[in-house]
Amino acid sequence: MVVIDLDRFKVINDSLGHRAGDDLLREVAERLKRAVRGVDTTARLGGDEFVLLLNGPVTHAEAVAVGTRAIQLMEPSMRLLGIDVHISPSIGIAFYPRDALSVDTLLARADAAMYSAKERGRNNVQCYAEGMSTVTQESVKLESELHEALRSEQFELQYQPKVDTLTGRINSAEALIRWRHPQRGLLPPGAFIGIADECGLLDDIGEWVLFEACRQAKAWQRAGLPHLRVAVNLASSQFRLANLVDQIRRALEAVDLDPQLLEVELTESAVMSDAEESIVILEAISSMGVLVSVDDFGTGYSSMSYLRRFPIDKLKIDRCFVEEMTRRPEDASIVGAIISLAHSLQMKVIAEGVETSEQLALLAQLGCDQYQGFFFSPALSPAQFVALVKKSNAGQPDLTEDEAARTHSKLAGVKRLRR
Ligand code: C2E
Ligand code: CA
Ligand code: CA
Repeated sequence: MVVIDLDRFKVINDSLGHRAGDDLLREVAERLKRAVRGVDTTARLGGDEFVLLLNGPVTHAEAVAVGTRAIQLMEPSMRLLGIDVHISPSIGIAFYPRDALSVDTLLARADAAMYSAKERGRNNVQCYAEGMSTVTQESVKLESELHEALRSEQFELQYQPKVDTLTGRINSAEALIRWRHPQRGLLPPGAFIGIADECGLLDDIGEWVLFEACRQAKAWQRAGLPHLRVAVNLASSQFRLANLVDQIRRALEAVDLDPQLLEVELTESAVMSDAEESIVILEAISSMGVLVSVDDFGTGYSSMSYLRRFPIDKLKIDRCFVEEMTRRPEDASIVGAIISLAHSLQMKVIAEGVETSEQLALLAQLGCDQYQGFFFSPALSPAQFVALVKKSNAGQPDLTEDEAARTHSKLAGVKRLRR
């Protein structure tokens, strides 16, 4: 059994469109048919994964020769939408009955060999070897489950309130993904984001998150919470997607959401790698009216000259500094420095991972604009979240974040005067 997976097919599909992607798959199928004999079977398993079943007794060398021929047949470029496109396959082979006796196991082992081909720099053929499956089998399983999860909508979003430090008002929510796994229950992102990223699924999951979060923000608006903003985490790979800006625009348009009600959270390392390109992307996002936050600030390396040039609205101080800030003066100093830096660059600051009233008091004293953390609330289901907003914001004027910020500086001024 020969499993063939196309390298970086997703990039072509995303950049040239699904129709061109379909044309490419058809061409690949035609070429694969030429790699095998009439008695063999050529099939497409789904997505960009093909399988060749070599009939009858086949030696190791013969099977590898078929794989090598398949690679050679893919070499000539294909013309799609007037562009010459090159595609390369990663190929894994497993033998019946040597490697497995059941179809499922045989396929899993050929898949494991295919992953090993990808690990070896793609565009090559690998045969299954003992031990290959131990790690990969688990991730192969998880990967197919992730595909299914996307198809049958097993993902859901929870929302953690972002709170105004001075007024205690909730003005936005961070969307955090969860996977309602049919057997394993509700899984946190740490259990699957890594694998999803590796197998190229994170961009599709991220697109779902973006659309779902916008839909939710619109629903809140309709439910009488007109100024509640939603923040979406973008993975580094998503940030570099050619169609990200278009994706954001479509998500907003799909539900007719005011761009001001959407915020994207990007990690420091994502925006700082290839900073020149980042400027272009950030400008495009920001000019739509969407807010840009830098997540986990302080854990990566920021170039101050870029920080000044990026259209960034907010810095989010990483949890690791907040955690110890009431015990370690150094951490409090760093938090204070980040707050000064942000404010002097006309940015807002939010602290994450606030778990105690002491931390909150210190943050307020240092002038931190917003915070989130278990002290106020963990991430909640949409229904719980709405209930909490109604309770905590009751009796407070219904302001946009900007209006609240102005009241904020007035309040801060009054406090200073009183002191
Ligand atoms: P993050 O963006 O830094 O999100 C904050 C994480 O800290 C969340 O974990 C949140 O539940 C947790 N947290 C919040 N307050 C506290 C606190 O007071 N104490 C402690 N100890 N933890 C707190 P979660 O939901 O497990 O998310 C983990 C990471 O997964 C996120 O880190 C983010 O990087 C990623 N993630 C979550 N949702 C998405 C998504 O939709 N797309 C992408 N690309 N990444 C996501
Ligand atoms: Ca975040
Ligand atoms: Ca963080």
